[in-house]
Amino acid sequence: MLGRHTANPTYSHMRWVVLLLTVAVILPTVCLLWFMSEVIRNERLAIRQKLVTIYREQLTRTVQQVNEAWSKNYRFLDTQDPNAHFYQVLAAVTRNNFCDGLLICDSSGISLYPTASLETDSLAQKSSSFTEAWQLEFDKQEFAQAAELFDRISREGDDLTSLTALIGKSRCLSKLGMMDQAIKTCRQVAFSPLQEQGDAQILTLIGNAGLLLLKFTSGNDKYKATFEETLTKLVPMLYSANKAGVSIPPNQNLFMAQKVLDAARSESPILGVRLQPQLAYLQKLISAEELSIRIAENAYKVDVFKNWPKDTLQQFNVGNEVFYGQIHKTANKTFLAIFSSKTFGPTLTDYQKNFSDTCVDYRILDDTGRLIAGVEQPGDEPFTTEPAGKHFPGWKVQLFFKGGDAFKKAANEKITIYIWTGTLVISLILVSGAFAAKAVINQVKLNRLKNDFIATVSHELKTPLASMRVLVDTLLEGNYRNQQQALEYLQLISTENIRLSRLIDNFLTFSRMERNKRVFQLARIDPAEIARAAADAVKTKFNNERCKFTIDIQQDLPLVYADHDAMVTVIVNLLDNAYKYSLDDKCIELRVLAENGFVVFRVTDNGLGLSRRSIKKIFKKFYQVDRSLARRAGGCGLGLSIAKFIVDAHKGYICVESKLDHGSTFTVRLPSAKRV
Ligand code: ADP
Repeated sequence: MLGRHTANPTYSHMRWVVLLLTVAVILPTVCLLWFMSEVIRNERLAIRQKLVTIYREQLTRTVQQVNEAWSKNYRFLDTQDPNAHFYQVLAAVTRNNFCDGLLICDSSGISLYPTASLETDSLAQKSSSFTEAWQLEFDKQEFAQAAELFDRISREGDDLTSLTALIGKSRCLSKLGMMDQAIKTCRQVAFSPLQEQGDAQILTLIGNAGLLLLKFTSGNDKYKATFEETLTKLVPMLYSANKAGVSIPPNQNLFMAQKVLDAARSESPILGVRLQPQLAYLQKLISAEELSIRIAENAYKVDVFKNWPKDTLQQFNVGNEVFYGQIHKTANKTFLAIFSSKTFGPTLTDYQKNFSDTCVDYRILDDTGRLIAGVEQPGDEPFTTEPAGKHFPGWKVQLFFKGGDAFKKAANEKITIYIWTGTLVISLILVSGAFAAKAVINQVKLNRLKNDFIATVSHELKTPLASMRVLVDTLLEGNYRNQQQALEYLQLISTENIRLSRLIDNFLTFSRMERNKRVFQLARIDPAEIARAAADAVKTKFNNERCKFTIDIQQDLPLVYADHDAMVTVIVNLLDNAYKYSLDDKCIELRVLAENGFVVFRVTDNGLGLSRRSIKKIFKKFYQVDRSLARRAGGCGLGLSIAKFIVDAHKGYICVESKLDHGSTFTVRLPSAKRV
């Protein structure tokens, strides 16, 4: 009968249903996956676009900021007092970090700063006494006489001669080891009131005296106060003008400033720390002056500067070094602000500030494509390139996403939500698909069971009915030899009848079981009665010489709370199976005993036994190990499933121990009545 399954229309029907279900699950899943991947891609693009817009705006703002800052610097130059001394302007731009160097011309193009160094008139020409004094000091090394001569000159000559002679005298005194007098003399010059009215030469002399004084007093605790006093006076004197608007000419000033800085630094660290801010500022001024003088020395270039458009950054070279300059004009002056290419980048701090914490890198290139600031080697193409603004003609600012796809990080949060939602929906589709498939498969199985059931019922009913009809016909036609044979026929009819009744009983139980309608009439009964009733039921069948049937019922068994007929059906089914699935010389035993609060029914046979695989399936409906054998033996694969159903309903257990070719033992445990 099993062979029919391949031709069973339910199978092809099932195939269609499963196929439809698969399509119903797979199609929306695939669509959803495609939709999700599209959404994710679009989201990435959208985020990228959003970021591009945001950073473009930020860049535009930064470009504006930088340009405003630069315009402010120019306005700052505009607001300088038109008569301000060039050192005041230099000091101001240096303090503001506007540029690294400065050239100033008046409106007619004459250089105001840095001016050429002052050519000091030869003092020797003015006074022959100086020649004699220097000879005494340097050639003859007669320091005492030289000091006397310098002293005399100082008292006779004009201011310039007098200050020069005093410096000479102090020098000679120091060479004689008379430090106190030397310092005293030198102070007369270094702290001379002539500073306020004197000309540039006098200022230079005062500065030189100051330096000499620093030399005399440095490294000696005794003169520490004088050293500090001199330093405190000298530093502000440099890079400034006196009341008469006169200053030390840039070349000398630079030389002196460097010497002052060296002297201060070589002094004790305490002094250095205290004057640190002043000295740092002095250092900046020195650098600015150095650069300014260096550019001015390439004076031929200045003409080029004049043709530059104003207020825009231009590149120029001095030697191999690249500089940037910008011309700015006020009413009476023209300024050339100079920027070293090395220090220029860091002055664009707004870019640094606005783009340092973001997921983008920036890069500023000048009109020749030279990198001014930002990343040297960006990993990707710039996503935006903007002009750097009106002060930087031809300059570009580029923005790059860090690590190529930093925008992905920004998109990830949203994408995670999509993925989770998508996963949830797909899982729901799969789970509901699985449930639907299971339900369909169950339905198909049920249909198959029903078909099997109908086929089995018809077949099982047909056989005993047919043999009964033959026997009855024989009896009716009087085709029997004697009374004895008639009795035998009647006996056979009775046996078939019993078999038929048992079959119908089983079918009814199964049918009720399927509809979950079996109602058990539970009562306290003696398990021995069940065992005996079951034994009686099989007695006729077992009563032959090829079958040894023993019953062993323990005395005083506890009562069980059970449906008598149902339990008899269970034991009869087990005994019937023991008989059916044992070959010749059957040895069947039914034991009933009490064990740990249970009553145990044990049916043992020496039959075919069961494999491990079969043991697992044996209680399933319609399961038969060997279908043809079972069919021959008159089985329909329901006996054990009915037995299990009944035992379960009694809150008992049924199990089997078996070994192939050695026999099986089926055990039913029912809780004794006290325990229920
Ligand atoms: P059936 O009506 O076919 O006997 P059952 O549900 O009673 O159906 O038994 C299911 C199958 O289990 C049988 O077809 C048989 O293969 C196997 N079986 C049952 N009892 C035994 C046993 N005592 N020894 C060996 N096989 C058994």
